[in-house]
Amino acid sequence: MNLLIVDDDPTNLKLLRAQLESEGHALFEAHDGVEALALLNRQRVDAVISDILMPCMDGYRLCHEIRMNERLRDLPIIIYSSTYTALEDEKLALEMGANKYLKKPASVAIIVAALHEVIAQPYAAPRPDVLREVEVLKNYSERLVSKLKEKNTELLAQTETLRLPNAAMTAAANAIVITDCNSSIVWANPAFSTLTGYPLAETVGKNLRDLVNSGQQDRAYYKEMWATILAGRIWHEQIVNRRKDGSLYPEDQTITPVRDANGKITHFIAIKQDLSERKAAEIRIRHLNRLLAMQSGISSLIVRVRDCDELFREACRIAVEAGAFSMAWIGLIAPDTPMVRVAASFGDHADEYLRGIEISTDSDTLLGQGPMGTTIRENQPTWIQDFQHNPLTAPWHERSARFGWGAVAMLPLCRNGIPIGALGLYPGKAGAFNIGAFDDEEKQLLVGLASDLSFGIDYIEKEKKLTYLAYYDVLTGLANRTMFLDRVAQYIRSAVSGGYKLAVFLLDLERFKNINDSLGRPAGDELLRQVAEWLTREAGDANLLARLGADHFAVVMPEVKQGGDMALFVEKWMQALLDHPFRLNTATFRIRAKVGIALFPEDGANADTLLKHAEAALKQAKASHNRYLFHTQKMTEMVADKLVLENQLRQALDNEEFMLHYQPKVNLVSGKLTSAEALIRWNDPRTGLVQPGRFIPILEETGLIYEVGRWALGKAIEDYLRWRSAGLPAVRIAVNVSALQLRNRGFIAEIEQAIGIDAHAAAGLELEITESQIMEDVEQSIATLRAIRAMGVSIALDDFGTGFSSLSYLSKLPIDTLKIDRSFVIDMTTTPEGLARVSTIINLAHSLKLKVVAEGVETEEQSRLLRLLSCDEMQGFLFSIPVPSDIFETRFLAPPPSLFPPGDE
Ligand code: C2E
Ligand code: CA
Ligand code: CA
Repeated sequence: MNLLIVDDDPTNLKLLRAQLESEGHALFEAHDGVEALALLNRQRVDAVISDILMPCMDGYRLCHEIRMNERLRDLPIIIYSSTYTALEDEKLALEMGANKYLKKPASVAIIVAALHEVIAQPYAAPRPDVLREVEVLKNYSERLVSKLKEKNTELLAQTETLRLPNAAMTAAANAIVITDCNSSIVWANPAFSTLTGYPLAETVGKNLRDLVNSGQQDRAYYKEMWATILAGRIWHEQIVNRRKDGSLYPEDQTITPVRDANGKITHFIAIKQDLSERKAAEIRIRHLNRLLAMQSGISSLIVRVRDCDELFREACRIAVEAGAFSMAWIGLIAPDTPMVRVAASFGDHADEYLRGIEISTDSDTLLGQGPMGTTIRENQPTWIQDFQHNPLTAPWHERSARFGWGAVAMLPLCRNGIPIGALGLYPGKAGAFNIGAFDDEEKQLLVGLASDLSFGIDYIEKEKKLTYLAYYDVLTGLANRTMFLDRVAQYIRSAVSGGYKLAVFLLDLERFKNINDSLGRPAGDELLRQVAEWLTREAGDANLLARLGADHFAVVMPEVKQGGDMALFVEKWMQALLDHPFRLNTATFRIRAKVGIALFPEDGANADTLLKHAEAALKQAKASHNRYLFHTQKMTEMVADKLVLENQLRQALDNEEFMLHYQPKVNLVSGKLTSAEALIRWNDPRTGLVQPGRFIPILEETGLIYEVGRWALGKAIEDYLRWRSAGLPAVRIAVNVSALQLRNRGFIAEIEQAIGIDAHAAAGLELEITESQIMEDVEQSIATLRAIRAMGVSIALDDFGTGFSSLSYLSKLPIDTLKIDRSFVIDMTTTPEGLARVSTIINLAHSLKLKVVAEGVETEEQSRLLRLLSCDEMQGFLFSIPVPSDIFETRFLAPPPSLFPPGDE
C-alpha cells in the first residue's frame, strides 16, 4: 500500500515509518494537514494515518478537508494520537470523517489490522448537510480548544522539569561552577561571583585555575585531584583561594565529574562553600581565649609584683605573649608636663616605633588628638579600627606605616580613679584572616583588663604604704627597728667579708619627757624630727639611722677604723649634740643624750644581739652617772642571770618556795610588841634563802608581783587568824605593797576578798606603801587608800623622808602610821641636822595625829634618842631580825610580850 503518514513530531514519523516499512508498505510523509493535502493532490495514496495536533492544520481538519474534496472523499483515514481523553477524541474524529481512531502508541499488528479494516470497508460519506456541518465544526472548534489547553499544560510541565535544575543551581547559596576538561569555565552561578568577586560575565570562558589559585595549588595538587576524580571518588577539600581583589578566603569545595552517554568525562562541577565566616569565628574564639589568658596573666601579676614599673613591664609582655598582640606599650603622663612618656613596651618594633615619639594630653595640639592623649584626657578607651587611615593618628602615620599597625586599642590607666596613663594594644597583622578591628566582646574584655591594671596600681601603692609603715617611722622618716635590724644584718655581712668591725650606738634623749609634758606633744614631735635631721646630717646617710622608741635613736657605724678611739669619737659626738641649738616655739634647747654602744664582732654575732647589748649598755648608762657605756661581758651575764632568775621565780610560786618572815615592832616606852612587818623570802632549794632586794624588781618587771603580792596578803592574814584562833595575843601584820599593785584597778577588790574570809581579818592587816609610790599618782592613790582604810585596814607610809618634797601632802594622805626611813635613823646620831630632821618629822606627824615608827634601829643609842623625841615605836635588829612565823609565834606571841628581847640566837 501507499500510505501517507502525517505527524509534526519527527520521532513519531520515524518510528511509524520503521514499523510500516518492515511490512512492505510505501510511505509518504507530511508534517501537518496543509502539507498532507498538497501531497494528496499530487500523489495517489491508499490510506492516511494522521496525528491530531499539528502546527498549520490539525488531524480533524484534515479529515474534514478530505471528505469535502470530490476526488478524495472516499480515502480511508486513521487518526493515530496520544491523548488523555481518548473517547472524546475518537467521537470527534469519527464525526469529522475519520474511518478509525487509534490510540498511540500501538503495535504494528494493530496498525496493520486497522489499515486492512478501513480499506475493506470504505467510508460511507454522509450527505452534505449544512446544518450538520455547522454542528460538526462547532464541536470541532470546542474540542480543539480543550485539546490545545491539554497540550499546553503538558508542555508547561515538560519545561518546568527542564527549568527547575537550572533555577536551583542559579539560586544555590553555594558557589557552583562548571568547567570543561581544561578547567575552562562553562557556567557559574551568582554565588560564585559573590564569592570570588568576578562578575559572571568575566567568568565564562576563563580558566578557573587562573581566577582563584592562591598559590597554594601547585602541579602536584592538580595531579592528585585528577587522579582522585578519575578513580571515581569525589574530590573534597578545604583550601584557601584568592578573590579578584587579591584577598584570600577559605573555602570548602567538592568537585565531581560530569559524564556523557558513553561515560566519558566531559565536564567538572565544583561546589564551593565560603568558610570565611566560620574561620573568622574560630579565629575570634581563639583571640578571645588569648585575651582571657592575658587577663588571667595580668590578675596573677597584680598579686605578685611589688612595684608599678614591674607591673607595667610585665603587663606589656603578657599582652604580646599571651594576648598575641603584635605590640603593647604603656604611656604615663610625665610629671609637671602635658607630655606622655613611655613607661613600658614589648613586642615587634616597640623600641623603633616608640623611640622619640611625641604624644601630648593637651587637647589644643595635634599631638594631643591621638588615641593615647585622648584616652588619658577623657579617661575613656579609644578604639582605632584602621590606624593608617584615621585622621586622628595622622602625626604617627609615617612612623607606623613601617610596622603596619592595623587597629589600636587605648585603655586608660588610673590611680585612685584619676587617669595617669594608658595601655596601647596593637593587633598588627595576625595572619591571612586578620580580624584586626575590635568587636564588642573584645572591647568589654579589654576594658575589664585595664581596670584590673588600675586596681593593681592602687593595690601596689597601698602595699607600699603598708610596707612603709612596717619599716619606717612615720614621724621622722627614719627606719624602724625591723628595718634597722635588716640593715645592720647587711652591714654585718659586708663587715665580715671586708674584715672590719662595726658599731651600734643607741641614744636616749635626756629630759625629753619634760619637754613633751611642758611644751606639748607637737613640740616634742618637732624636737624628734630635728634630732633625726641633725643625726642624718652628722651620719651623712639616713640609712645608718633608726628611731626605735619615743626618744630612742640608733646609729650603725658600718666600718670602725682599726685602732680608732671609739670613746673619743662618742664624746666628740655628744658634745656636738649638746652644742647644737634646737629651736622650739622660738626658744632654744640644748639636748643631752645617754648612749649605749655594742661592737661587732665582740659583743654579738648578729644584728639582734648587738642591738640588745647596746640597749643593755644604754640602760646601764642611764642608771649610772656615765654619759655613755660600752657593752661588756658582765652586762651580758647579768642579763642572762636575770633570765634564769625569772624562770626560777615562776617555778618558786608554783612550788610554794616563798615564805614570810616577821619582824616585830615594839612600843618605845613600854617595850611591848605592838605589831609585825611581813617580809618576803624566797627559799631557793639551790642556794637557800634569797632576800627580796634580789627578786622583787624582777617580779615587778615580769608582772609576777601581782600573784606573789596576793599570796603574801593571804599568807599574812592566814597567820594572823591562826594566831587569833589559837588564843595567842595576835598583833596586826604590816604587808608591803608594790607600786604596781597599788595602781592595779582590781587592788581594792583584792583586799576586800583577802579580808572577806573573816570579820576580824581587817583588824589584823596594815599595808605599807612608800612615799614615792603615792606620789606617782596622788589623786588615784588617795582614793584607793581611802577605800581600803574604810574597810578597817590600816595604812603606813613606808620609807618616809626619802622624798622630802612630799611633806606638804602629808595632811591629805589617808594614813595611820609614818615610818621614818633607816637613813634618817642613822643620820640622827651622827649629825645635829639629822637629829633635828627626825625631831621635825616626829612633831609634824604627831600634829597630824599619825603614829611614828622608826625603821632600822640597831643601837641602844638610837633607841634612847627616839624615845626622847617621843617616837612611838621602833623596828630593827636591836630588838629582832625578821624571823620565820613559827619562831615569831613561840618567841613573841607564846610568852607574854616582854620588854626585854631574848638574847641573840
Ligand atoms: P622595807 O619595807 O623598808 O623593809 C625593811 C627592810 O629593812 C627589810 O629588808 C628588813 O630586813 C630590813 N631591816 C630591818 N631592821 C633592820 C636593821 O636594823 N638594820 C638593817 N640594815 N636592815 C633592817 P628586807 O627584808 O631585805 O626587805 C627589803 C625590802 O623588800 C623591803 O623594804 C620591802 O620594800 C621589800 N619587801 C619585803 N617583803 C615584801 C613583800 O612581801 N612585798 C613587797 N612588795 N615588797 C616587799
Ligand atoms: Ca616595809
Ligand atoms: Ca622601809
